[in-house]
Amino acid sequence: MYPNMRLRRLRLNENMRELVSETSIGISHMVMPVFIDESLSDKRKIESMSGIYQHSLNSAEAYAAHLKELGIKWVLLFGIPKIKDAEGSEAYNEDGIIQRAVPIFRERGIGVITDLCMCEYTSHGHCGILKGNYVDNDFTVNTYGRIAVSQAQSGADIIAPSGMMDGQVKKIREYLDKSGFENVPVMAYSAKYSSSLYGPFREAAKSAPSFGDRRTYQMNPANGREAMREITMDVEEGADMIMIKPALFYLDIIRQARERFDHPLVAYSVSGEYQMLKNAIDRKFLNESVIEESTLSIFRAGADIVISYFTEHMAEERKKRSD
Ligand SMILES: [Zn+2]
Repeated sequence: MYPNMRLRRLRLNENMRELVSETSIGISHMVMPVFIDESLSDKRKIESMSGIYQHSLNSAEAYAAHLKELGIKWVLLFGIPKIKDAEGSEAYNEDGIIQRAVPIFRERGIGVITDLCMCEYTSHGHCGILKGNYVDNDFTVNTYGRIAVSQAQSGADIIAPSGMMDGQVKKIREYLDKSGFENVPVMAYSAKYSSSLYGPFREAAKSAPSFGDRRTYQMNPANGREAMREITMDVEEGADMIMIKPALFYLDIIRQARERFDHPLVAYSVSGEYQMLKNAIDRKFLNESVIEESTLSIFRAGADIVISYFTEHMAEERKKRSD
């Protein structure tokens, strides 16, 4: 009790504050999402996400070298095919866009997580194969299995299914194992909410659904306990890592998951979170330190790994400080 106890003693100077800091941000625990578009011949600015680009296979080479230089260890790859069809068949084309993009990063020593979904690949923009207007679960998960094998064949280090189909982790695990990829881990987008924060991403990944929305497969933002059921299911199906997406509006879910599960916990800070902060920074309503603070809040809530569009910028800042 005061005056014996003075909490301000441990805030006296920078070294002291760092010494007792409970949470730290390590770039090796962060992942940079990267978009590769087959129809581009050079990189292209994404209008809805300031400072973020879609890459061509060519421009991806220099970009991979740049990320390596910054000390970034992991990317999450999204492929955007030139041709889309109702079955999303480009997703498992062995010469497809993501399959060709993986080695570009691998060869430079960067770990590659491949997003596994079909919304970038289907002409209707839904995350699976339709029966009428409904995404057919069981047919879709078998296709996910095929895609997983094709991504693993191209050299992906980690497969990250994001479609929110029931049983997707189980099917993917089966397909990977029977194809000799028993050592390729699955990072499951376990609790992916049907969120308005994905808006800017849909331009980036050209993946907006042409009709309806994703509420029959993605989660209702009102539900927290259901997220624990989703995670339990993925864990039982063999997920190696579990994910909550988005991050900032869902810090309570990250905390609950941290307390209940011992798996490495991933949080995806999505395009809308990025762009909200970016707008405020660019217009000088907020100081750039909000980037560190918001990322810190996600780690403090309990995430082990954060996927963020700020990863590159944060690595640049750290590099500047150490140079
Ligand atoms: Zn999708």
